[in-house]
Amino acid sequence: MYHYVRPYNSEFPYFKNLNIEDFRKQLDYFEQNYGFVDKQDFIKSFETGEIPKGVVLTFDDGLKCHYDYVYRELSKRGLWGIFYVATQPFIEGTFIDVHRVHVLLGRISAKEIYEHLMSLVIDEMIDKSREDEFNALSYPNQQNNNYTLLVKRMINYFITYDFREQVINLLIEHFVPGVKTIFDNYYVSPEEIKEMNEGGMIIGSHTVNHPLMSRLSKEDQTHQIINSFNYLESLTGVNSNDRTFCYPHGGFHSFSDTTESILTQEGCLYSFNVEQRDIEKNDVLNRPQALPRYDCNQFEHGQVRSVEN
Ligand SMILES: [Zn+2]
Repeated sequence: MYHYVRPYNSEFPYFKNLNIEDFRKQLDYFEQNYGFVDKQDFIKSFETGEIPKGVVLTFDDGLKCHYDYVYRELSKRGLWGIFYVATQPFIEGTFIDVHRVHVLLGRISAKEIYEHLMSLVIDEMIDKSREDEFNALSYPNQQNNNYTLLVKRMINYFITYDFREQVINLLIEHFVPGVKTIFDNYYVSPEEIKEMNEGGMIIGSHTVNHPLMSRLSKEDQTHQIINSFNYLESLTGVNSNDRTFCYPHGGFHSFSDTTESILTQEGCLYSFNVEQRDIEKNDVLNRPQALPRYDCNQFEHGQVRSVEN
């Protein structure tokens, strides 16, 4: 699992991206130590239960760098990857809250953000019901320093969806006024999605606006799944039998049995969770909607270089 893969940018000194040079080194490392799984062998495994040996590459969030750097690098090497795109930026022309938080954390010290955030938050904004669960389960394996972790937890898990957007607006206005230019070219474009699809990449759904699916009603989850697939298929023309999905945030707390059954019903062949182990026969045959996946930072060359904030 990869997210941002790009070169260092001095305007975002704290940004948590994998450096493109390290990505190249990691691909070499995978090639030498594991090899890569053939695309058809991977798709066939859901029928046959035969697990091909090697690495499958996935990239979340439909980021511009996935076209600019990743797609180009994979094409050069004759490799393929699965790109999970959240569709709100295309459908509504607006930014996903999770990414606005990344911009803030990439540019401003997390301690400053946290302190300002705490001055904005009042009790009625907080969802107390799942506090213990989320404390235990959220972000166990990311390389966050404490303030980054606190900011992400507060915004992604504790502030209810009724208040979240408004709180992020206030943070953006406070720390990065005139932010519009920062968000230009943040996401891969519809034309680039088409081109990547035609170039052999798999394009999957990552919902409409990247919610924690377990916090949504069945109706809202269905909307997230169907609308995102419909939009992506209007670009790629992909047959709905080849649908694939990836849970925003990831981990077993981020979705439910309901989510899995909607996905199966909507013709989704397989979905990725975040659970650090290899894919096994039982996964592809009996639980394809919760495939395990490693973070790139668990392998050589996969660590973020950025400065601590
Ligand atoms: Zn994501």
